[in-house]
Amino acid sequence: MKIILFGPQGAGKGTYARMLVKEFNLEYIESGRLLREIKEQNTILGKKVKSLVDKGQLVPDELIGDIIRSKFHELENKDFVLDGFPRNLTQAKILDSILAEKHTKVDHVIEITLPEEETIRRLTARRTCSNCGQIYNLLIKNLTPKKEEICDICGKKLQIRKDDNPDAIKKRLEIYHKETEPISKYYEEQGILNIVDGVGLVDEVFNRILKIIKAE
Ligand code: AMP
Repeated sequence: MKIILFGPQGAGKGTYARMLVKEFNLEYIESGRLLREIKEQNTILGKKVKSLVDKGQLVPDELIGDIIRSKFHELENKDFVLDGFPRNLTQAKILDSILAEKHTKVDHVIEITLPEEETIRRLTARRTCSNCGQIYNLLIKNLTPKKEEICDICGKKLQIRKDDNPDAIKKRLEIYHKETEPISKYYEEQGILNIVDGVGLVDEVFNRILKIIKAE
């Protein structure tokens, strides 16, 4: 099963992607995390990526396309859930070409929708594990850490993402509406788009996603 999850920041893509990985034993490809790993490296590329990501801007399509392509080579033909890529139409076409090289295609594209006020509210309360990337939210039931500021899974310290600040959030949402939302139409035309309401408890939203996947 090959799944793309997309939706505005804070819609819960990372949370549901991890749940899908567990449920169906999928590989998890998260473009934001791959880039955050690169930005921690003290290299020219790391510095370039840092300067864009911390401000909430997209990195060049060609760069993220190469990163995703090499990730797919590592995975061979395993099933996956893809989160954060594609972010625009150019990237959607890059993904098509990567998958065509592997003689495969996406089964489900799931767009999680969320009103803008809720997106902002959630992002300001988001915490991420500095080590394993697990996501928490101080405002969402079942997503609060058991011990304040500590990851339930690996015990490492939680942190606020550098780009979860008001200016970067604003920029990321602008880019989302302008560049990412149009991919919805692209996948709708291919008949593989499903829209899921992201408002609700984590388990409720996840069940909506499961229903779609299991129905097809
Ligand atoms: P995310 O964790 O998906 O919110 O991504 C965090 C940041 O990484 C974004 O705001 C961008 O700066 C960068 N990024 C992630 N995925 C992509 C992508 N597909 N194309 C370009 N930039 C990306």
